[in-house]
Amino acid sequence: MAPRMGPDRICVGCRKAAGKLDLIRIVRTPRGEVLVDANGTAPGRGAYVHADRACATAAIARGTLARSLRVGLRAEEAARLGDEIEREIERDVRR
Ligand SMILES: [Zn+2]
Repeated sequence: MAPRMGPDRICVGCRKAAGKLDLIRIVRTPRGEVLVDANGTAPGRGAYVHADRACATAAIARGTLARSLRVGLRAEEAARLGDEIEREIERDVRR
C-alpha cells in the first residue's frame, strides 16, 4: 500500500489522488443508505469520486464505489446514485 500523503483522497473511479475540493463524497449512512454528501460532513463511511462523469460512471460500473463503502448496491440503487452524482457534478460546475 502506498504511504498516505497529507489530506489527499483517492477517487474510486480512476484511483488517482485528489484534493477534497475536486471530489464528491459519497456516504453510507449509519442507517445503511448510500447518498451524495454535498457538504462532505455526513456521518458514516465515505468514498470519493472526482466531479467528473467518467470517474462516477467507472466507480459505479466497476463496483469500486460499492466495495469502498462495503455495501451491496442493487441495479436501481446504483442508477439512482449515478443520477445523484450527476446532479452534484452539474451543481459543482455552476459554482
Ligand atoms: Zn477520478
